[in-house]
Amino acid sequence: MIEFQGKVALVTGGTRGIGRACASILAECGARVAICGRTAETSQAAAAELAAATGGEVRGYGCDIASAEAVNAMVKAIEADLGPIAILVNNAGVTRDTLLMRMKDDDWNAVLNANLTGAFHCCRAVARGMLKERWGRIINISSIVGVRGQAGQANYAASKAGLIGFTKSLARELGSRGITVNAIAPGYIDTDMTAVLSDELKQAIVQQVPMGKVGAAQDIAAGVKYLASEGAAYVTGAVLHIDGGLAM
Ligand code: NDP
Repeated sequence: MIEFQGKVALVTGGTRGIGRACASILAECGARVAICGRTAETSQAAAAELAAATGGEVRGYGCDIASAEAVNAMVKAIEADLGPIAILVNNAGVTRDTLLMRMKDDDWNAVLNANLTGAFHCCRAVARGMLKERWGRIINISSIVGVRGQAGQANYAASKAGLIGFTKSLARELGSRGITVNAIAPGYIDTDMTAVLSDELKQAIVQQVPMGKVGAAQDIAAGVKYLASEGAAYVTGAVLHIDGGLAM
């Protein structure tokens, strides 16, 4: 499958979970893929595994996306190594769950800085190249929690709801230049992020899912592949729910 042949893709948080599945499907489809996690070692190790598994080109970069300087330096390095970025998947994210009355400033800031400000840093850094090419795909991984809210996740929900407004604003700003900007709102997906939930809570969530099961990282990657494709050229500002029906 050579759908993305020659196109350069950056997947933030591509070392594990959903981001890794997204990097894998893009590499399988011919893209030259860059992934980033917070450390260079982990990112390069994951990239080497992905390259071996897909037979594609995958490179790893250490970058904390909460830092604008670090993001700018990473994008410069990727452009020098692989070329201008055509597909950006803003996937990196963290949780620091606690109730409002116990939430420390640091819990709030850490989640907003990584999940929302990090996506802003990445979009700003790649937009110039996309505008020049008059082609680009930006896919922001939000969450159904950003649509519905979730007790104990005010910081996370605010970051994910913010991503949806950010997505729609950029879609309006960049649409006439051949750049689409969309969000995916995953439901409950089996990754390290959800592995920490108690069995009781997991069961309670699954009971609310019309499809009666948790999702896999590959379910989200399939949505990313679609939104990055030529077939989705007229789709922008959309929020694609991939959640087994949980949020309808
Ligand atoms: P994981 O915890 O499994 O992976 C998170 C990824 O983000 C890792 O690769 C991690 O890299 C990277 N990361 C975290 N913070 C930073 C940072 N500051 N800079 C760079 N990279 C960072 O999460 P999931 O795969 O489950 O989630 C991926 C995305 O999907 C997140 O945005 C999450 O909010 C969203 N989502 C997940 C759902 C789920 O049920 N799992 C549901 C809805 C949305 P490293 O540790 O190597 O630094």
